[in-house]
Amino acid sequence: DPVLVWFRRDLRLSDQAALLAACGDGPVIPVYVLDDETPKHRAMGGASRWWLHHSLAALDASLRDKGSRLILRRGKSAEVLAKLGEDTGAGRVHALRHYEPWWRNAESAVAKALDLVCHDGNYLAPPGSITSGSGDPYKIYTPFWRALKQTMPPADPAQRPRDIPAPAHWPKSDRLSDWDLLPTRPDWASAFGDEWTPGEEGARARVARFLDRADDYDATRNLPSIEGSSRLSPHLHFGEVSPGYVWHRTMDAGGSVDVFLGELGWRDYAQNVILQFPDYAAKNARDKFDALPWRGGKAASADLKAWHQGRTGYPIVDAGMRQLWTTGWMHNRVRMIAASFLIKHLLIDWREGERWFWDCLVDADYGSNATNWQWVSGTGIDSNMFVRIMAPLVQSPKFDAGDYIRQWVPELAGVKGDAIHDPEDAGERPDCYPKKIIGHREARERALQAARKAR
Ligand code: FAD
Repeated sequence: DPVLVWFRRDLRLSDQAALLAACGDGPVIPVYVLDDETPKHRAMGGASRWWLHHSLAALDASLRDKGSRLILRRGKSAEVLAKLGEDTGAGRVHALRHYEPWWRNAESAVAKALDLVCHDGNYLAPPGSITSGSGDPYKIYTPFWRALKQTMPPADPAQRPRDIPAPAHWPKSDRLSDWDLLPTRPDWASAFGDEWTPGEEGARARVARFLDRADDYDATRNLPSIEGSSRLSPHLHFGEVSPGYVWHRTMDAGGSVDVFLGELGWRDYAQNVILQFPDYAAKNARDKFDALPWRGGKAASADLKAWHQGRTGYPIVDAGMRQLWTTGWMHNRVRMIAASFLIKHLLIDWREGERWFWDCLVDADYGSNATNWQWVSGTGIDSNMFVRIMAPLVQSPKFDAGDYIRQWVPELAGVKGDAIHDPEDAGERPDCYPKKIIGHREARERALQAARKAR
């Protein structure tokens, strides 16, 4: 009998334990289910859908090179897979385990209808497996990372299957173009393709490009004007490359790679957080912050919109928000500054920001996004303090963001020298660029006062 391989955020042929196991188990029917229907299933955001479209096309092409193909179906995962099993005679489904609460629910539902075999491989270590001496999962990153490192390096990446045995009859597949994953009018993703090549090949190319510069990572990763980090996040999110592969290639390249590997560790850490706190994107982990008087109403809505559009009058924040809109990605240092600005300067609930990022990021990841938003807001289990308020106008020169601002805020392209960080203060603000939405000192006072109410 044929077996199903249920692809989700693991869109690769190499080092894909579910696919490898299936290949030894019978004719293989690879399937991807677009699930916007299961209750409580968090539908993918717009930018992620753009990525998904191209990544599925790439996966199908690689499968076809091996005489296989990708079957596309849409609906409730468990129902779709059960029906596919019935139609094809497949009783077993192989999948990589996922940790978003809705995927865990879906896995339970699938296991009721079919023989579901879950495999590991999307994380350095299976989330939940790294525990303290007393057997409890870690809540804080540093001890988690120390323990995770002890289990590294993980096994060397498994091979690509040489052949993928095909079934005698292929079940019907939806047409990818009928899923309307790409934006049409307006096509806000028109520039995404300049920055990204979704799919396994694009991911490998990105790894290779990073390895040439990995030695400079520590020195350049915080400078938004330079391509100092790997830009692997969307590839890792969609599982086009395994973290084990990235780990090994980086180690092989040598040099000082500890800081980079520690960032990969944050990715694992975030999954451990959502395994312990499944509704991390909805609830403050420190509940005293439930009493924080976030702003609401018309003025706050207008401010939120200005933040979305990159029109706050703070050049570093605006550059980041426009990079996000234009490319589906934002530099990590600027993500922290822009997030902190929304939460503290505008005193708008971090969940509004989490949702915007979810919709706009090509690397939008339930665990990483929620963990980082709660980290910045100070509401998380392991987080910055709320009262530590980042000063965007200090961060901007400190991390040499001038050229980054000139690139993403064209109204300011002509502003020379240090005036770029705060053209309003320097008397060089062009009329077409907005005044600061709120002064730094005033915003800081308001945030500190709000924090006192949450104590
Ligand atoms: P590199 O510096 O090259 O790091 C390598 C890899 O490590 C990344 O690709 C990523 O997979 C992982 N990583 C690095 N930093 C973190 C981190 N802080 N937390 C978790 N994993 C990390 N990252 C996402 O992948 N998805 C998100 O939805 C997301 N939302 C974020 C929201 C906010 C408010 C903030 C401050 C950060 C968020 N991050 C998120 C983390 C981080 O900004 C991105 O992973 C990073 O910018 C991706 O760029 P890179 O691949 O060049 O990273």
